[in-house]
Amino acid sequence: MTTAQILSKAREQKRTVLTEIEAKQILSEAGINCTTTVLATSKEMAVSISEEMGYPVVLKVSSVDITHKSDSGGVKVNLADKKAVEKAYDEIITSCRAYAPGAKIEGVAVQGMAKVGTEIIMGMILDASFGPVVMFGLGGVLVEILNDVSFRIVPIEKADAEDMTSEIQGKKLLQGYRGQDPADVPYLQDMLVKLSEFVNETPGIEEIDMNPVFAYKDGAVVVDARIILSA
Ligand code: ADP
Ligand code: MG
Repeated sequence: MTTAQILSKAREQKRTVLTEIEAKQILSEAGINCTTTVLATSKEMAVSISEEMGYPVVLKVSSVDITHKSDSGGVKVNLADKKAVEKAYDEIITSCRAYAPGAKIEGVAVQGMAKVGTEIIMGMILDASFGPVVMFGLGGVLVEILNDVSFRIVPIEKADAEDMTSEIQGKKLLQGYRGQDPADVPYLQDMLVKLSEFVNETPGIEEIDMNPVFAYKDGAVVVDARIILSA
């Protein structure tokens, strides 16, 4: 589905939360690299999608009523074969039913396992006085606690994105440390500009949350995405 189709479908259903699959579809259309993510509505389908994608894969609950998927036992990573996928599928459904009894579960999202990189968070919020604002920060537990993030009002240009990536306190982590590859910072800046362009031309979005993005020596990929529409 295209961005326009996803947005009008959600509006028709009076829904403000988009699924990870919908969010990644929209971000991909905006030129932002996301892991290919496909909905499976049965265990058999989860297996056949996994075989087609190639192992290892990640399975995640797909439900507009469950936005924090790990908390509900809704994420299983690094699944190496058919047996692991079947087991993960059952465990996800069981755990999510117990955690959120009323939740409407549309199935399980299947995606390739991305190799670990520097964890980044990127997103957008709609500020009451400034309008849409884009955000950049480092991910991971430590930095989540420190809340080390940078904001700019939309629209931004490349120079603003350069400021954003250089003004966070943990910017040294982007340069690589303890044998970890440096992050492709120009690529991340380019993602921020694309995000800003998308937000600028698409009204009615309340929040975009890409957490985490894995940054590599060359490029980066969004492994989880959430979009909330304005009510
Ligand atoms: P939540 O809704 O809890 O934020 P996420 O989709 O972010 O769920 O998944 C939880 C964690 O699992 C992520 O922070 C990341 O470390 C890992 N993960 C998720 N998707 C992938 C993937 N495609 N490849 C590798 N790791 C992943
Ligand atoms: Mg996440």
